[in-house]
Amino acid sequence: MSFPPCLNCKSEFVYQDQSHLVCPECAFEWNPSETDDAFTVKDINGKLLEQGDKVTLVKDLKVKGSSLNLKIGTKAVIKRIVEGKDHQLDCKVDGAGEIMVTAKYVKKA
Ligand SMILES: [Zn+2]
Repeated sequence: MSFPPCLNCKSEFVYQDQSHLVCPECAFEWNPSETDDAFTVKDINGKLLEQGDKVTLVKDLKVKGSSLNLKIGTKAVIKRIVEGKDHQLDCKVDGAGEIMVTAKYVKKA
């Protein structure tokens, strides 16, 4: 079995302790499945979304704090992906400007 090098010091002598990987050189511990998930945001079809992707809305959305309603099929471009929030996608939406959108309400165009 081979493990990825230590995230902290790049040591290759990493070993597994239950669900965690442990570095014997700097004592750093991490959960490899958590770090794998951290940077992936998926659309309604389970496709990976990245910065710069063109998406369309799969549902009518009411924009919080405004009277704006975005219609299903509205096109947007992902400007930035934000981790650890409900609204992961910072999108530039046609005719509406920059709006935070939940990833499961879009599909990759
Ligand atoms: Zn280390």
